[in-house]
Formats: sequence, C-alpha cells, structure tokens
Amino acid sequence: MKHVRPSAIQIDASSHCQLACPLCPTADGRTRPGLGQGHLKLADFRALLDRNPEIRHVELSNYGEMFLNPQLTEMLAYAFERGVTVSGGNGVNLNNVRAEALEAVVRYRVRTLTCSIDGATQQTYSKYRVNGNLERVLENIDRIREHRRKARSAFPVLTWQFVVFGHNEDELAAAREMAAKRGMSFLPRLSWDNTLSPVRQPELVRIETGLGAADRDEYLQEKGSGYTRDICYQLWNQPVLNWDGRVNGCCVNYWQPFPVNAFDAGLEGAANHPDLAYARAMLSGKAEPRADIPCTRCHHFEEIRQAANWITPEEIAAQSDSLRMAALLPEAAAGARFAQVMVVKGWDPLPAPVWHTTGRVFRFGVDTAVYFAPSGPGRYTAVLRIPGAGGKSQVRIFRFEIPARPLCAEIPLDTEQAGADSENDFDLSSSPAAPENIWIL
Ligand code: SF4
Repeated sequence: MKHVRPSAIQIDASSHCQLACPLCPTADGRTRPGLGQGHLKLADFRALLDRNPEIRHVELSNYGEMFLNPQLTEMLAYAFERGVTVSGGNGVNLNNVRAEALEAVVRYRVRTLTCSIDGATQQTYSKYRVNGNLERVLENIDRIREHRRKARSAFPVLTWQFVVFGHNEDELAAAREMAAKRGMSFLPRLSWDNTLSPVRQPELVRIETGLGAADRDEYLQEKGSGYTRDICYQLWNQPVLNWDGRVNGCCVNYWQPFPVNAFDAGLEGAANHPDLAYARAMLSGKAEPRADIPCTRCHHFEEIRQAANWITPEEIAAQSDSLRMAALLPEAAAGARFAQVMVVKGWDPLPAPVWHTTGRVFRFGVDTAVYFAPSGPGRYTAVLRIPGAGGKSQVRIFRFEIPARPLCAEIPLDTEQAGADSENDFDLSSSPAAPENIWIL
C-alpha cells in the first residue's frame, strides 16, 4: 500500500464546547466514549511540531471550541515562530474569547477563522446555537477586525458560515449583508441532518447556497458524489488527531480512533499505521470493509461503496497543496478610491492585461486585502491600475516572491513607492492575460 507523507494535520485544541447545538455529538455526549474530554497541552503541541518538521499547517478546530483552550495563545506563538500556519477553519463559535486571544489570532497570522453563525437575529441564531449570544460573537469579530486594521494585517480571513435550516432560511439575505459589511466571506452550508428543521423553501436554498441543491440527498443525486466527499481526503493529506494524540483519521470519526498515537509514533508513522493504510485501501476500492476499521461504520463510506465512486489518486493530488494563500495589501495613493489588481506568475515578460476582464477591485479604506492562491512558491507580479482624474489611469507594477514557508504570505504594495508606468505601455489590443491564480475572495 502506498506510503503517505502528510504535511498538514488537524488536531482538536479542545474537546469542550460551551454551546448545546441539537445535532452535535459533542453536546449530547456521543463523542465522549471515543474521544474523552480535554485540552491539547502546549508541551504536546510543541513536541509534535519539533519532532515532525514536515508539518506546515495545523487546523485547530474540530469537535470542540478551540478558544476554550487556556494555552491557545502560546500555541499560536510557537507555530508562528516555526513558520507553521494555523487555522480555525472547521468552525469556531466565538462566544467566549479572551482579549489576548483576539489579539493573538492577528499577531500570529492565523490563516482563517470560520465563524458558525446560523442566523441574523439572536432569536434565530440561538435556535441552533443554543446558549450562544450573537451580539457577543459579532463584538468579538469586530475586535479581531480592529486588531487586523491596527496591525495592517490581512489575516485571519474571516468567514461567516451559515448552516441552512427551515427556521433560518429567511435570514440568509440579511446575514449575507451583515457579513459583507464586516468584510467577511459568506458561506451557506447544507445541514447534515434533514430531520431537524428541514428547509421549507428548497428553491430559495438552491439559489442562495449556489449549489443547486437544497439538502445533501439532493446534492448527491444531482452531482453524483457526496457534499463532503473531501473529508475522506484527510486520511491522505491532513490526518485528524484527537487532543491527546490519538488518531481519528478524519474529522467525522469520533466513535473509534485508530490504535496509534501520533505523539509517540510521529506523524508519518501514525499516518502509515497498517489500519490507516487499510482504510485508504477501502476508500480506494481496493480492500473489503473490515469491522475494526472506523470507515466501515460511516455513512460516507457507504455512499462511496454503493456507487462504487472510489477516491482516486487524482483527487488526492489536486487537494494536496491547497492551503497556500497570499494577501496583497495595497496602500492608498493620494486621492485614490480604488485599484484594479491583477496577479500573474513570474517576473517577465509582463503580460498585456485586458482591464475590463481582469483581476479584482480593491477599495482603499474599505477592503482588507486581495487574496489569491499561488500555485506554489516562486516569483509573481502584481499589476495595479489606479483610475484617476480626467479618465487617466496610473499603473503600478510590483514584483515579489512567495516563500516555501509559511503557507500564508502578506505582500504590502506601497503605491507611492513603486515605479509608475502609463497605461499605454501595455498593448491593450493583444489577447487577454490568463492569470493562473484562483481568486479566493
Ligand atoms: S469514510 Fe467516514 S470515517 Fe472514513 S475517512 Fe471518510 S468520513 Fe472519515
């Protein structure tokens, strides 16, 4: 069976959560027999990074609320020092966050925080996020934004995640607007269980989510593969660890950790334990289900098996370096209101941009950054066009390098300092530049 060498992990900073969300296995105690209860310890976290220098990224959220870990700030500092990026992308509720942690997520450049906010009003929000306080969550978001502004930082990227139910679907539009006002990306998600408050207006949900499906069954029917199929990729690219080092494999499995501890065996050793290798073989359609492998009891595996829609090496490879992110931070030129930003790989020759179809608009004083996903480390060029008075535009060119580590880079673009060129230097009649980057926000 093929050896894997993951360079990212997910580990629960805490298995505790202060909310009581009705469908959550943490809230009703289902996670307790398998995962126990506790916080990831700073000493274990440091030893894990020290002994496994191949780790470039750590996702700290899973079944608990990472901000409840009393040593979170120290962990963020240590990861930052080692050039390891950290995220809270699985989900944070942000109800109780110490002031130092709000500052630390900016100081130590946490990559992303996905904030679970399923409503635009307290009444609706707390129907699912039971015990949650929307006002406090929004205050905490605003404090992080303020720290980000003071530090002139682009990180963390803040995402408003909205799980759609029947009781909140009418607040989708309002929540989207509230997120936009805060410069947050908005991510509507399909619920994992239709028995609780199923959607009442499927057409609205199909459109608002942009998925063309109102629930996960419909998604499977329409697309031919599961809504969260990529969770299984974690067995290859980003193994999930419990707070005490045991290996869950993926973020779904709470019922049966694999019989290996990554704190003792190391990441590569744990990821290549024979049982994890067997689970990968099962998911690839190369081994029969076995009772002692957690996937055998998982509905995701059942979906894959029934359709014989096995995980392929191409899917795994496509996802393996997807954590890289860069943020361009344009500084305002006098009187400028916005800039059009384009990025291409390499320094020379400069492509000819077709401005009306190219890049992103950055609004000075409003937007935080322009984010993009570099295809790898190396040389890149950013071109800014700043419309001025009388229909004249100024063009600024910035050449920069994206390092191999950390995976998140910030590139300040001082529009007063860079060399200025006139728009006429570009041949606007030639074929469009084809920026190879994927725009994220
Ligand atoms: S089949 Fe289930 S338990 Fe196995 S990796 Fe996929 S989501 Fe996790």
